[in-house]
Amino acid sequence: MKIIDLLNSGRGTLSCELFPPKAHQPLADALPIVRETARLRPAFISVTNGAAGSTGGHTLEVAQAAQGEGVPALAHLVCMGAARSAIDQTLDQLQAAGIQNVLALRGDVPPEGPSGQFAHASQLTAHILSRGDFCVGGACYPEGHPESPCMDKDLDYLRHKVDSGCAFLTTQMFFDNNILYNFMFRLLKKGVDVPVVAGIMPVTNARQIGRIVKLSGTSLPARFRAIVDRFQDNPAAMAQAGIAYATDQIIDLVANGVSHIHLYTMNKPMIAGGIMKNLSEIFPCA
Ligand code: FAD
Repeated sequence: MKIIDLLNSGRGTLSCELFPPKAHQPLADALPIVRETARLRPAFISVTNGAAGSTGGHTLEVAQAAQGEGVPALAHLVCMGAARSAIDQTLDQLQAAGIQNVLALRGDVPPEGPSGQFAHASQLTAHILSRGDFCVGGACYPEGHPESPCMDKDLDYLRHKVDSGCAFLTTQMFFDNNILYNFMFRLLKKGVDVPVVAGIMPVTNARQIGRIVKLSGTSLPARFRAIVDRFQDNPAAMAQAGIAYATDQIIDLVANGVSHIHLYTMNKPMIAGGIMKNLSEIFPCA
């Protein structure tokens, strides 16, 4: 099943993200998490990748396991530092495994500078499509990509990524919905009209936050900071508050016409399940 067909079906979607074990860690550790997540019946499961150009780190196996549980998988593929041959081998493996959906990503530039066949995700997108019948998605940044000199330039490159064949976009996490609404407006003004899947990170652990802000530059609204300040020393209360905040954010998004939501669930099916239970009437067959 191609994800673009799900997104264009006229129904809202709720999807989940998993990260696979590292290459040297056993795949078996991840399988119960895949099963539990699949049991929640998300529209699709995306599987991150840290290994440039390859399915190393078990991305392929976790994606296959999700599909084995009857949930379409979206395999992330990173081009920074990757030779064309490695990317082509990965695409052959994905095709052989029946995985049609790929999230084409550049990846972060290492301190020693860029390397590899493709400098940008747009080039990877065009290449993937030249190699087979894939549905290719891409990343987007409601607060601008951290390397971008300005939002307008970032949006020009995003438009180019879509023109290169990117069928849908998944956003970086955000905690203030107004940031997304503003971004969607600017996207449309640029003529970018592919489906946008809003990425929601349920923060259930106060330690996550410093890392999130450092990595993504995401701004934290006062209401969110107050929750963390109040509950950070009580993990059970923090988890409950994080689920409630994410639920609230999603209800507001859906009420304002954003119908595709992606949960950055950090391999925690209990958290994903808590949010999905809260939304069971809003996404009846998520
Ligand atoms: P690009 O689209 O190539 O953009 C990167 C930067 O280059 C932007 O500033 C853009 O404006 C600029 N740019 C684009 N095209 C051009 C051009 N032609 N000329 C000049 N500048 C240009 N990382 C991982 O390692 N593994 C993952 O699994 C992963 N999953 C992710 C999932 C999502 C939904 C998101 C939002 C991010 C994910 N990332 C992942 C992080 C991502 O790899 C980094 O944010 C990376 O820095 C940018 O990747 P990109 O695909 O957005 O790059």
